[in-house]
Amino acid sequence: MKAPIPRLIPKNTRMGLPIRANAGIEAEYKKRLQALIGNMFASLNHWLSAEYRRQQEKILAYDAATPWWRLTLDRVPAFDASPARGMRDALRRRMRQWHEEFDEAAVRYATWFANRANATATLATGASIAHVVGFAVQFKPTRAMNNAMQSIIAENVGLIKNISDQTKFQIEGMVMRSVRSGRDLAGLKADLEKIFDDNKARAARIARDQNNKATEALSSVRMKSVGITKAVWIHSGVARQPRPTHVAMHGKPFDLSGENAGLYDSAVKRFVLPGEEPLCDCTKAPLVPAFSRGPADIKTVQAVAARIRERDKAAREGMFA
Ligand SMILES: [Zn+2]
Repeated sequence: MKAPIPRLIPKNTRMGLPIRANAGIEAEYKKRLQALIGNMFASLNHWLSAEYRRQQEKILAYDAATPWWRLTLDRVPAFDASPARGMRDALRRRMRQWHEEFDEAAVRYATWFANRANATATLATGASIAHVVGFAVQFKPTRAMNNAMQSIIAENVGLIKNISDQTKFQIEGMVMRSVRSGRDLAGLKADLEKIFDDNKARAARIARDQNNKATEALSSVRMKSVGITKAVWIHSGVARQPRPTHVAMHGKPFDLSGENAGLYDSAVKRFVLPGEEPLCDCTKAPLVPAFSRGPADIKTVQAVAARIRERDKAAREGMFA
């Protein structure tokens, strides 16, 4: 990583260690999502193969048994009663089962992910601040933390459910086109494989993006809970195609909250926070009020320590859920 630019850091503050998203969580989340998707596709593949063979016989029998004038005159009713419709209905029933499976898994995985992201973001933020202040910061649950967790869980539940929702439409469209155009099973399976690959790639993107976003959101809440209001933008430099605007933001201080939280990104014409843009893996380092130069700094230490004590007391008294 490039060194931050020290002259941009405000006086009387010192920079903590940059917060990093935990690569292990991303890998594990990706693995779980891809396994879930893999199970769905293996089951659909198996079922579609059997069903398609069965329906193909029916299609032939149906065509042979129906006089040509009926097929022409009653095209719409004939199609409605056709094996294609039977296949579509059967596919919908099958997808409903997977839908339920995804709904259930979505809540479980999203909760697991948010808890893991919280644990590591909290640890990383504590270590980052300890690097400056020289003592371990004990974080307690706060309402803001609870809100951040709920929003991360809700977002991830939505993303996971969306995988099965979209798959349903993709596969239904694919099967209907295949039946109508009389394609063979091999063609259908090749299409199914393609949809599977797209979904695996999507799971990988979700794991990466959400891990970055959750780490940024949770570490910000932790920082704010001990009175840190600013951080320094850290461009990770690992992206294959870094955003030029984010490269330029490296080392610049910004506000953690408020209307203009973050830095102005001319590419999207608004203020952005690290990790906010799709697949942005920029991060931040907290700007801790300085501790080592003169009485003013000592006062700051005492003020921070007092705030932590107050907060702990409030937590003990059950102010926070
Ligand atoms: Zn970025």
